[in-house]
Amino acid sequence: MHITFGMFLDGSEWSSEAASLGKIVCGPLQMLQVLEERLGLSGIQSSTPERINQYVEKIKAVTPDWCRESFRLDAWTTAQQLLAWRDELIEAGWDAKEAPSQRLQTLATLEQNPLTLAPGAPDRLRNVLKALDKTPCSDEIRLTEPLALLPWVWREIFATLRRNGAHLIEPEDAAPDTAPEVIQVTGRDEATLATQLARYLAQGDNQGVAIICHGDSGLLDGILHRFGFGAVGEQRSSRWRESLQILPLFLETVWKPFQPQRFLELLLLADAPFPYYIRRPLIDALQKEPGIGGEEWQNAWNQATDTIRQNKHGYYSNPKAELNKLTELRDLLENQSFQAEDKVSASLLIERCKFLQPRLGPQVTKTPGLGTALLHAKALINILNGKTDVSRIELARMLDSIIGSGSDNDDRCAEVNRFHCVNHPAKLQADCDTVLWWNFLDDGRTNYTSWTAEERAAPPDFNPHAARQLEHRSWTNATCHARQRLIVFTPRLLAGEAAFPHPFLNELQNRKEVDAETLCDASGQWRLADRSVKLTRDLSTPAPTPSPELEPSSVTPLRRLSYTQMNSLLTCPFQWFLNDYIGLRMPPATNVPTGSQMYGTLAHKVVEKLLTESKSWLPEEAERRAGELFDELVPQMAAELLLDGQGATKDRIRNTLCQAIKKLFEEINSKNLTVVGTEHECTSTLNDHDFTGKIDILLEEPSGKRVVFDMKWSSATYLQDELKKNNALQLATYTWLLDSTDFNVDCKYFLFPSQQFLESDAPNWKNLWQRAVETLDIRLGQMGTGYLERGFAEEKELKEKPPQDSLPLTKSATCKFCHFSTLCEREGDNE
Ligand code: SF4
Repeated sequence: MHITFGMFLDGSEWSSEAASLGKIVCGPLQMLQVLEERLGLSGIQSSTPERINQYVEKIKAVTPDWCRESFRLDAWTTAQQLLAWRDELIEAGWDAKEAPSQRLQTLATLEQNPLTLAPGAPDRLRNVLKALDKTPCSDEIRLTEPLALLPWVWREIFATLRRNGAHLIEPEDAAPDTAPEVIQVTGRDEATLATQLARYLAQGDNQGVAIICHGDSGLLDGILHRFGFGAVGEQRSSRWRESLQILPLFLETVWKPFQPQRFLELLLLADAPFPYYIRRPLIDALQKEPGIGGEEWQNAWNQATDTIRQNKHGYYSNPKAELNKLTELRDLLENQSFQAEDKVSASLLIERCKFLQPRLGPQVTKTPGLGTALLHAKALINILNGKTDVSRIELARMLDSIIGSGSDNDDRCAEVNRFHCVNHPAKLQADCDTVLWWNFLDDGRTNYTSWTAEERAAPPDFNPHAARQLEHRSWTNATCHARQRLIVFTPRLLAGEAAFPHPFLNELQNRKEVDAETLCDASGQWRLADRSVKLTRDLSTPAPTPSPELEPSSVTPLRRLSYTQMNSLLTCPFQWFLNDYIGLRMPPATNVPTGSQMYGTLAHKVVEKLLTESKSWLPEEAERRAGELFDELVPQMAAELLLDGQGATKDRIRNTLCQAIKKLFEEINSKNLTVVGTEHECTSTLNDHDFTGKIDILLEEPSGKRVVFDMKWSSATYLQDELKKNNALQLATYTWLLDSTDFNVDCKYFLFPSQQFLESDAPNWKNLWQRAVETLDIRLGQMGTGYLERGFAEEKELKEKPPQDSLPLTKSATCKFCHFSTLCEREGDNE
């Protein structure tokens, strides 16, 4: 057999020749398999997490002093690190006896412990080495790296094979006669450079071209397809694939406190282990009240129950059994989850893994990635068997090791091309005219262990620099195989992050640097190295129109209006159209309330509950009760305040709220006001549209005059400004809803953070409302003609670009809280 061996050649093509029986190209793992098969040593291999787990047990049994403290703090990571050192030394030929340092003494003691440690790759190589003795061999083995640079165990294996009859050919390090031309193409990002690379390929015959594709080729493949080439199909494993998130996110539910964002992530996974009829309502509930057990949470379960009972589409052949499943799931989440603090029993985790298995198993044919998730669950069960309890950090580390670098994307593969593709420079085995090195970037990895001088003397002929020398040789392999030119592509940004050129760049002498943006001159002449083309602009596709357009009379306002909708219509019809008319929504994961929005909802609920319990409170009593309600409602509506590190924020919010509520009731009592209602709904009609509004607190003076408190968790500046300009439309809306003739209502804001009331010195609600209605008519008229105006964020902007029509009421739009700034092009404005 003709074998080509190199330390970076795992996963290489065996041969590109038409007939190549008996020829193979191997990296260390493939060569190990070949040798094991020949010697009858193959067997079932243990996974790395299982070996780490066995090493944990060894360390527990030996209790070495040297790593005791680290092991106490993080047993899994300590075992993982010690095992990695141990494996490296075994590969380097260490006999586990000579131990000149505490580190090696510890490893030697662990090696003597009789508890099982399944063989890793270095142990398997040592077994192969033992079994090779006197086994005849007639192979021709061509090494791509000098024997002296290989790890000890490989040196010994090849030396033994040579003794046994193999013909070993070492590489000759003759420098090529002429150095290739080197061109570095730089560009802003991958997309810019991918187009240049594809254009280069499109301008000539590519029989003599090779591409070294460093990293994922997803974006490059898309552009190659546009130019009519096949995909390179290179991909980096990713641990963030959706199917790999199911196990860690589901196991997260055992820990306390409830984390709304994490639970939402679980619900949003396409293959989450819960039925859709409960997932959707729970997603909606978390977007309103980010916690567990609150009103919205209860509503979600009621909604799911109704869905099953109604069984509108006949999905549930046995609704009763489905209802039982729902009850079990509710019990699991409400009573058996989010309880554990730092430790949890291994049996509970095993139970959770077993909960997942029958739910994911049937989906594997549809989503093959779930097969990996099931393997992970099985690996975790194997590790947990025999343990009593597991700490939170230990579980996280176990999952980290099990998921490892993740899995590949099943949908992607390499396609046929005339040019040759490799994913590592060492894999270039034949000369080419041109080598294109895609993403010629420093990936910032330094995976070499530091050993002391004494430690380096322990294994035989240990060369600590060999790994770096091998890596460097692999880089020079690219220049050695480029007959005419090497073109390297270095984007300045990779996936939006700053990227840095490959360290080999410093060694590429006499290189020419070109900017991707300048490859095409003003006349349309494009040129890169030996290829060029005259580009012409494609005029067949019209450019998009710069401003939004509507078909005249195509949009009519909805039947039901509210203050929020009206404000949006008046200030930014573009926002109203996207949000209220066509119902464009942000993904739920980005929509969970947090910060002021969450505190505001919680504070409103506390006041609502207080006023439901009693309409008259002494300020101190209200303050005390508000604290109790806050404690009760936080897990249901603001669970993030229970997370580690949030204690001070939670106390601050609690104190602010309690003080504010005391102030609120001081005001109510001092003015002798009577509470009429809270969250009081009012309805009216405006231009044939139903109009509804919800008043936070409606009160009455002894004279019978009505008073409205609109509560906010925000600062005073903006609201004060609105009142000063007689632009507080929300308050005007309430006065109109309560008294559309005289507007005789006392309306004010109440701010929780500053415990302050804000009101207008000279309110003119009637005038404000009339201006709003006139403006509404103008806006509807504009939309009727097909014009959709964008709002303004600041006064300055209004002066620079006044609205198309003069408006009786001009108010700034809510750009700060709007999700459509990219669509309306505001986001690009500031660049
Ligand atoms: S960002 Fe401002 S201008 Fe743009 S749609 Fe939103 S509210 Fe309108």
